[in-house]
Amino acid sequence: MTTFHSTRSTTDSLTSKQAIRQGIAADGGLFVTDALGETRVDVAQLVGKSYQDIAVTVLGALLPDFSEAELRECVEAAYGPQWGDGAITPLKPLGEDWVLELFHGPTSAFKDVALQILPRFMARTAPADGGADEKIMIVTATSGDTGKAALAGFADAPGTGITVFYPQGKVSQVQELQMTTQTGSNVTVCAVEGNFDDAQSAVKRIFGDRDLAARLAGDAHVRLSSANSINVGRLVPQVVYYFSAYVQLVERGAIALGDEVEFCVPTGNFGDILAGYYAKLLGLPVKHLIVASDRNNVLFEFLTTGTYNRQRPFFQTISPSMDILISSNLERMLYYMSDKDSRLISMLMNDLNQWGAYEIPDEMLARIRHVFGCGWADEDQVRESIRDCWERNRYVIDPHTACGYFVLRQMPRDPSVPRVLLSTASPYKFPRVVNESLGFEATGTDFACMDVLARETGTTAPAALRGLENAAVRFDDVVAIDGMAGVVERAAHAL
Ligand SMILES: *Cc1c(COP(=O)(O)O)cnc(C)c1O
Repeated sequence: MTTFHSTRSTTDSLTSKQAIRQGIAADGGLFVTDALGETRVDVAQLVGKSYQDIAVTVLGALLPDFSEAELRECVEAAYGPQWGDGAITPLKPLGEDWVLELFHGPTSAFKDVALQILPRFMARTAPADGGADEKIMIVTATSGDTGKAALAGFADAPGTGITVFYPQGKVSQVQELQMTTQTGSNVTVCAVEGNFDDAQSAVKRIFGDRDLAARLAGDAHVRLSSANSINVGRLVPQVVYYFSAYVQLVERGAIALGDEVEFCVPTGNFGDILAGYYAKLLGLPVKHLIVASDRNNVLFEFLTTGTYNRQRPFFQTISPSMDILISSNLERMLYYMSDKDSRLISMLMNDLNQWGAYEIPDEMLARIRHVFGCGWADEDQVRESIRDCWERNRYVIDPHTACGYFVLRQMPRDPSVPRVLLSTASPYKFPRVVNESLGFEATGTDFACMDVLARETGTTAPAALRGLENAAVRFDDVVAIDGMAGVVERAAHAL
């Protein structure tokens, strides 16, 4: 029986449904299963299959307490006509490499892959002890893209509310409007005075606040849960597109079944790339996973030295969704790379909380480096990469994808191992920076920039983004960090 427990202790024994409903473990750890890797996915069987069929198979291996019929329903609802491409995550050639476009969902960033399906998973989990009328309040801090993708997924989902906090002035105009114009009777959006990590830490404190939890359970029958990438239900849908990418390479004749490939992943919270590691553990022939960071290169430093040190300056960059000092999902990778040593993980996370840093044993670092490569790009390099990619390939990339593009170009290329760059956002989410990088007119609103970008490159802005210009703003509240719990409590009572 596959059960889930915290990365920091082995006492819990939860089904995947319970783990999804609860979000984060009571001790602050992340839910993991020791059964990961015991079931292998037979890649040969996936060739010729649709994204949806691949998803049912891969999710079945990761969430065994969901029936196949349940998974099928979730998948059909999540990966339907709201996607702008029938392949869901199409693979395209990019010079000698490949790019996997993850941004064809309703909010134009890769987080849609997970957040279109998480609410459907959530709806199939039963209340643990809160009674049948228990409602779920999703609380999320966002550096830009998660918030909108979560809002789009959870808006008007039965039995569920969602509250999103974003750092004031630190997301793009498009990103902010995407959130503040969100419709739905169960949604709350609020700006926070602080950066993303401040907001994220405050959300973690809200989850750990037992008094608040007791009040919400008693007065409002509401249980708080997370839609951040620490939720198992957020992580596992992302494993699917690694399989899909591989199958697309086989179908195009670029590789034979069993050949190894590499993925280069623009990384912040380590969720997207961790899903690639899960795919590898499920048997996908992945040679290396390359972590691409922006100027907040804490992961690069960690993977190079073995010391994770969050005590460093925080840079607000043109790739805001990767501006992160604490990569939460790294904890799961460390768990598996330490041979599932929850005592070690607990100590490391304790060190992180207490001293702001931790150091892993040398042999563990060596093992990690066997799988994970790394690199990073500063903002000039990001701009230069956007330009270089357009000039070489006539292909427009966003500033997050550009970090990956830069890192990929720095790495020596082994012609026998195809490389896939994960493209995490539409360039139209960041039209100003893209135009500046390409030497196009970049004045006026983001919408004026979108129009210029479309005209100059012969591409088309996603309709949902272009339409934001005339959408009504519903939320304009700003709170201090210590006001966030109050916002959650009021929203829970209004559910
Ligand atoms: C969230 C995000 C990332 C980083 O993904 P993680 O799972 O946090 O590593 C990269 N690019 C974009 C556009 C994102 O929205």
